[in-house]
Amino acid sequence: MIEVKNLTKRYSAHKAVDNISFSIKKGEIVGFLGPNGAGKSTTMNIITGYLSATDGSVSVAGFDILENPDEAKRHIGYLPEIPPLYADMTVKEYLNFMYDLKKAKLPRTAHIKEICNLVKIGDVFNRVIKNLSKGYQQRVGIAQALIGNPEVLILDEPTVGLDPRQIIDIRKLIVHLGRNHTVILSSHILSDVQAICERILVINKGEIIADGSPDQLARSLSTDTSLRVRVNGPEHDVQKLLGAIPGVTKVTPMGKKEQAAYEYVVEVAEGADVRADLSKRLAERNWPVIMLASHEMSLEDVFIRLTDGTTENSQFKVKEEI
Ligand code: ADP
Ligand code: MG
Repeated sequence: MIEVKNLTKRYSAHKAVDNISFSIKKGEIVGFLGPNGAGKSTTMNIITGYLSATDGSVSVAGFDILENPDEAKRHIGYLPEIPPLYADMTVKEYLNFMYDLKKAKLPRTAHIKEICNLVKIGDVFNRVIKNLSKGYQQRVGIAQALIGNPEVLILDEPTVGLDPRQIIDIRKLIVHLGRNHTVILSSHILSDVQAICERILVINKGEIIADGSPDQLARSLSTDTSLRVRVNGPEHDVQKLLGAIPGVTKVTPMGKKEQAAYEYVVEVAEGADVRADLSKRLAERNWPVIMLASHEMSLEDVFIRLTDGTTENSQFKVKEEI
């Protein structure tokens, strides 16, 4: 349904998207997961024809976005990061306006009504958009994407700015829409893509660094030669000490978990048992170990590990329980 080949987008010297390729089959629900600035919106803007690529090609339903932009775009409904809402219009006026703009062919009244039922905005149909809650506004944004009944829905950060209840509702709606559409959505929140998507493309610094189902991603990187350690002590110094223990191959800080206690995933060389050495060394520095467990990687850990070095954004360290 969507073919992206060797796509590159350069902003002067900076490569926002760096030679990425992937294909998405009809009916898939795919999540672009990556930190802010990873290149998710840029990729989506190119797929939807809003931005031109520096290099590479995109085709949608067999139509090249450059050679046949109108046909390609007809197959896509797009909810940009900042929804293109006209705040002073009523929902009714806005959806009719978008119907005209898209030159939709389906019977107007019935089509708009069907969409409103689907995204559950019938009760605010005659209200002015700016007076609606953010959750409703996001639904209206999704409604405009559905006009013309495109096969592909592209939703850029559809849950951003919503409260937990609204996030759950929007996730449900997207899963529901996924029954009849191919969906690509982006998020910097792991639990979003985990809750909604069958397949995740992890994007970091303009590159795809992982591609698979949530389970596959967790499995491909899981290792039974790792420990989860929680230590009362200064994060940076403890990390350094752990990394210097013979047999330790990698230390990934997982952030603050309790008052003054930080957690780390410590990977060790095969066959090495570093536990005694680790406890002793930390005790010597008066940094007590308050938890030590063999560790199976969660998808959150995998994500942090994959995007290692770019997780200064604290949102990755706060586990979202939504
Ligand atoms: P994401 O959606 O994953 O947060 P973006 O695609 O918005 O990331 O941005 C990718 C990179 O490209 C970032 O480093 C961003 O600063 C840069 N970028 C985005 N748009 C522009 C622009 N119009 N001019 C220059 N740089 C840009
Ligand atoms: Mg973005």
